Amino acid sequence: MQKTLYLVILLAQFLCLGCARVQQQAADDTMEDGIQSESSEQNSDCANCGMPSLEFPKWVSRADEHYFCSPRCLFLKIQKEPEIKSAKSLTVMDYYEAKVIAASNAFFVIGSDITGPMGHDFVPFTDEAAAKDFLKEHKGIKILRMANINETVIKEVMDL
Ligand SMILES: [Zn+2]
Repeated sequence: MQKTLYLVILLAQFLCLGCARVQQQAADDTMEDGIQSESSEQNSDCANCGMPSLEFPKWVSRADEHYFCSPRCLFLKIQKEPEIKSAKSLTVMDYYEAKVIAASNAFFVIGSDITGPMGHDFVPFTDEAAAKDFLKEHKGIKILRMANINETVIKEVMDL
């Protein structure tokens, strides 16, 4: 009789453990869901023109939590709100390497036959030699650093 009782207690403990594990699993799932919904809630529409920036992975640019569909929209926004320039992280995509690079390190080719989501754009490269190759191959006009990109230059690109 005592042995049966002991077995019942053991069984109960075992079931309880199992149920704790299921609860833990459920908690983990909820946490993952929480993280997923948080990231999908983050607004990735272009902070300048409102286009869904993630649809243009080769052009997507960022200033901290703000997304832009292209370097052009990023620079347009900086003209309107210069404080964006002091964002901790200001990034664009290297056109050949398809990787995120700091806008301040990039060489931008303008006037080429390659257009971005908004038309003529600033095509970014980490490597100056790559920018020169691209300029030759795609009939670019010139190479600019971020420090040289001002209202006049932006207007020049938009009027191409
Ligand atoms: Zn845009």
